[in-house]
Amino acid sequence: MAFVDDLGAALDKTPGGGIILTSLDAVMDWSRGKSLWMMPMGTACCAMELIAASFSRFDFDRHGSIPRPDPRHCDVMVVAGTITRKMAPAVQRLYDQMPDPKWVIAMGNCAVSGGIFYYDTYSVVRGVDEFLPVDVYIAGCPPRPESLQDAILRLREQVSTDSIAPGKSRALKSDLPAPGSPRKGEPSTPGGDAG
Ligand code: SF4
Repeated sequence: MAFVDDLGAALDKTPGGGIILTSLDAVMDWSRGKSLWMMPMGTACCAMELIAASFSRFDFDRHGSIPRPDPRHCDVMVVAGTITRKMAPAVQRLYDQMPDPKWVIAMGNCAVSGGIFYYDTYSVVRGVDEFLPVDVYIAGCPPRPESLQDAILRLREQVSTDSIAPGKSRALKSDLPAPGSPRKGEPSTPGGDAG
């Protein structure tokens, strides 16, 4: 059943093609995580980093994450920028127009918590999670496109644990290092070269 349930690994092992038998849910689950189309909700300076992510230097298309201007085509809303209370109902409406299942990335301090507008501002929403279910938070003012890239990969992992089959879930298979783990060639404990 491992072969049936993991189409991606099976495809890697069959150079030149071959006959692959699998179940519909395995195909759907595999393809869903590899084509997270983005609804770009860029409202302020963070939007420049979101736009940069689509250009050739970062080339997000290779992840299957292409920006679409229509919420009905999108899987993940990327909120990049300050959201005011006046703007929030429009953002909510666009989110509601996205088909299920759908996900949200809060990109930058303003989207995460209101950022520099957290204090002394009556008009700014203190984080989009006040009205949207955020799946991945990206800190920074502004965060770099690489941070968005990392968020897409994290979201992919998260999506890959879900299944369209009722009551079915998949084990998390992470190729990414856990936060705080040492890099290659670095000592495993902080200050390991001291003394
Ligand atoms: S987090 Fe910083 S860069 Fe991003 S929208 Fe807010 S003020 Fe601008």
